[in-house]
This record gives sequence, C-alpha cells and structure tokens, in this order.
Amino acid sequence: MTAPAPKSMDAIMALCKRRGFVFQASDIYGGINGFWDYGPLGAQLKKNLRDAWWQDMIMNPCWGRKGPNGQRVQCVPLETCIIQHPKVWEASGHLAGFADPMRKCPGCGHFVRADQLWDVLVSTSEWFSSMIQEFEPAPAGTQTPVLDSQRLLKWARGKGKRLAPNLALVKNPEVTLAWLVTRVNGQPEAPPDVIEIVRHVATEQLNATGLQDPCPRCGAVLGTPAPFKLMFETFAGLTHTDDNRVYLRPETAQGVFLHFKNVVDSSRVKIPFGIGNSGRSFRNEITPRNFTFRSREFEQAELEFFCHPDESKDWYAFWRDFRMDWWKSIGLAGENLILREHAQDELSHYSVGTSDVEYRFPFTSPGFGELEGIAHRGNYDLTQHQTHSKVKLDYFDTTRGELLPNGGRKGERYMPHCIEPAAGLDRGALALICEAYTRDDTRPSPEFLKLHPRVAPIKAAIFPLMDKDGMPEIADKLTDDVFAKFGRYGFIETDAKQSIGKRYARMDEAGCPFCFTIDGDTLKDQTVTVRDRDTGQQQRIGVDKVCGFLTEKLGL
Ligand code: ATP
Repeated sequence: MTAPAPKSMDAIMALCKRRGFVFQASDIYGGINGFWDYGPLGAQLKKNLRDAWWQDMIMNPCWGRKGPNGQRVQCVPLETCIIQHPKVWEASGHLAGFADPMRKCPGCGHFVRADQLWDVLVSTSEWFSSMIQEFEPAPAGTQTPVLDSQRLLKWARGKGKRLAPNLALVKNPEVTLAWLVTRVNGQPEAPPDVIEIVRHVATEQLNATGLQDPCPRCGAVLGTPAPFKLMFETFAGLTHTDDNRVYLRPETAQGVFLHFKNVVDSSRVKIPFGIGNSGRSFRNEITPRNFTFRSREFEQAELEFFCHPDESKDWYAFWRDFRMDWWKSIGLAGENLILREHAQDELSHYSVGTSDVEYRFPFTSPGFGELEGIAHRGNYDLTQHQTHSKVKLDYFDTTRGELLPNGGRKGERYMPHCIEPAAGLDRGALALICEAYTRDDTRPSPEFLKLHPRVAPIKAAIFPLMDKDGMPEIADKLTDDVFAKFGRYGFIETDAKQSIGKRYARMDEAGCPFCFTIDGDTLKDQTVTVRDRDTGQQQRIGVDKVCGFLTEKLGL
C-alpha cells in the first residue's frame, strides 16, 4: 500500500502557534535552537499524555492484562533528580560513549551527525532539493533518477553557485560531470542510486579521494567523523572546577537503576516488577530539527521492568506488543505505526534485542521516525552500577530454587534482566497532533484536530446560543456541573460571544471533541444540542444527560 500524501508541516506548526500548543522558546528574543515551550493547550495535551502513560504503565499497568507469567503486571513510580553524581554517567557508559560521531564542514563550519547525513540532506538541504529537480524522476520500479547532463551543467552554473558554492559540481562542473556520466554509462545494468549520485557531484578527484560526502548546507566535502559530546555540563558549587563538574541527565532510566535496591528494600515489590520514571532529559543534539521531534531539552517516560533472565525474552515480547497497542489506543492510526526490530548490527553492545515503535511523521513520510524504543538491556545497567559503586545490586528470589521439605523454596540469587520501554512525550505529543491534524475544505473551518478525547486538552465546550433569554444562566449551571466532574482532566470552555459557527470553528481547531449548545428549545424542553467535532453532526440530549454522555465518550 502506498503512503498517503504527507500533511503540511508548515500548516501544523502554524496551527500549533496560533492556538497555543507550541511556542518557540525565548520567542521574543528570536528563539533558541532546539528548545520549545508549550502554550496552554499544549501543556494540557502533554499532561494528558503523561497521565495516560502513568495510569496505564504504573497505576493499572497494561490495562490489567496478564503478563507472560499469568499474573497482573506490577509497577511502581520513582522521581529522580536531573543532576546525579558524575560517576553515574561513567558507569552507564554515557560519559565515554554518549558522543555521536559528527562531521564538520570545512566550508561553512556546520556539523552534521554522521549517521543522519543522508536523512538530513534529503529532508533539509536546499541545494539538494533544487538539484534533484534537474533529473527526470526515476522510472517505475527503479531508484535512479535519469541524468540530463546539459540541465545539470546549467544548474551548476546558475542556481548551484548560490545554493551550494562549495560543491564539486559547482566548482568544477566539467570534470565532476564527466565522472558521473562515465559511471552512469559504464554500468547500465547497475545504475547509481540517489546517494551515489550525490556523492559523485561532491567529488572532484575521484581517483585520488574516492567518493566524497557533501555538506547539506554548502556542498563542501565533509570532514571525517569525530565524537561530539552530547551531554550538557554545568557545575554544582561555587567554583567552576573539574571537581564540581556535573551533567544534566541525557535519559531518565539511570535514576531507576540507582534506586533498584532502595525500592526493593522499601516497598513490597517482588520480581517481576517495573519502576517508572518520567521527566526532563537533555541532549546537546547537533542538528535539532523537525519541530519538537529532535530537541535539546525534552521529556521522557521510561519504565525499567526487572525480571528473571529465563523470562526476559517473553517479557520483552510482551512489552513490545503492549506499547504498540497503547499508542493506538490514544489515537495513532495503525497504518502510520510500525514496530521495527533492530538488526543485529544496530544493537548496543549490551542489548539482547531492541524494537522501535515508529510513527510516520509528515517530515519522515513515506518513512517513519522513532517514537519509543523497547530494549532488552540484559543485566548491563545493574551490573555496571554494582561494579562502579561497589554496592551489591543482585536480587534474592525466594520463589525460586530447590523445593524444601517445609514446602518453601531454597531461593535463588541473580542479577535481574531489564526490559525498557522508553517513550518520548514530546515526540508523542507531536505524533498525536500530526495524526489529528485534518484539512477539509468543505467545512466552514477547514482545519481541525481530531484528537482522541482522552488526550484532548479541552474536553467540552458549553455555549449559550444567545447572550440573553436565560440561556447564559443555564450554560453557567451546566458548566459548573461538567467542570465539577471533568475539570481535572482538561479545560471546560464556555463562550457567549461571536456567531455559533465561529465558536465551533475555534473548538475544532483546538481539538475539543464535543460542544453543547443551549438554545431556545432548552428553555422549553430541557434539552441541549451536542455537536460532534469530527462529523459536525448534532443531536439533542437532556441537560441532565450531559455528564453521563461525557463519561461514556471521554472514556476517562
Ligand atoms: P534517536 O535515535 O532519534 O536520537 P534514541 O534512540 O537516542 O533516539 P532513546 O535514547 O531510545 O532515543 O530515547 C527514548 C525516547 O526519547 C525516544 O524514542 C524519543 O521519543 C525520545 N527522544 C530521544 N531523543 C530526543 C530528542 N532529542 N528530542 C525529543 N525526543 C527525544
């Protein structure tokens, strides 16, 4: 099946700003790259998402679904500091390993993450999107756009000079083109794909250097990959010395491993059980982009689920499947979600298996972008912290081991294995908004958000049709009733101004699922109209049935 045409990211971002979902951080100072703030509706949307995660992962894990051991799943929460002892990051491997290989452009000074070069180039490079239009599109069933040397030459001497002044094709078009033509004509049975074509146009001295990789900004040949530290540093204490150097956490998971023993000793949890932790994480991403998708400050919701090594594969499969079902349950359409199992060479050295829940964002379409990673981490983290802290972190399991004459068990000591579903709440909120964004030009308000009622920031709106004849009083009373019952889940709006059409349009754009209108008939028969956001259809129900209606529809 082919993917539908992607929605316009510009339109989605404009709606987010217009309706107060997302603002650029430090907006009035021109913004700061990689940081985003949430406006009133966005803050509530994200809270609803966080609450849904908390409810379905910790308070009533997996909706009461039984785990592979046939028992209810058991989880508890934790809240840990952003700054921890620097040794934590030594033990976790972040200090040494959390450095993405970066490539620096000698032409314009731009950095690009080595593993994201092609992705960045295809999705953001101005010169690339201009140059590729000079090729005929790839014939059906092939990956190779058809080369027209004359058009490419013209581009190199014209637009190319402005867009990619440092590209080999622009600096020395005849020589560079000659290599490309030789390649295309020389092996007609194995034509070059887009990446190979781009590498050709970046290469002047093919024999001397081999194919080169261009800078997405200016086209110069990128330097070799070198590590770049992704952790933000600061100092705890008055002096800025190495002794006081600390780090802002790049993930919430480590806080859990630090308190594994404290949680076991202080609560009644027994393996298998999970510990959830959610909060801000920081990564000095080299190319923050795609709106909130890749930010430098973001929020994670992570669960570390500890189990016996023999049961870990079953728990891994269990969590992987549940997390897919969960994202669907809050409104992400099945065809826009995939579960992608990592290939062996993609896995971290300690990982026994990892799957990503990926969503087809407009900027990744027809491909997908990671929303959540579910990793089988083996016993790597607990073992690392045990080694570095010298505190024993293994677990004594009284339900295992040899059967004793008294009917009890001898017990077994082991280092638990850990399954980690690690979700990003900002990417989650962005996926929900992208999925919900709908444009229908036949409607009076063409843009609206079909947000799932559970996450919608406004749960209901109550309108008096006119600001007179007793209608505002009934609306006030109904608002009080609805607020008392549902106010803790989101906004309950009321508005007596403007035409009713405009009021509906405002609510549609904000993703409010239901509007109730008090009109002339309400005064006679105590009924109101309820309008469905997605269909625009209206029905009448009794004023006294509104709370029951919302209880059923909001599914809270
Ligand atoms: P990526 O490969 O996209 O950098 P990752 O695999 O490093 O992501 P994890 O370390 O598994 O991400 O973090 C878990 C989740 O945290 C991700 O699935 C994502 O939703 C979120 N996340 C990670 N980095 C960012 C970021 N820079 N901005 C927003 N969310 C992020």
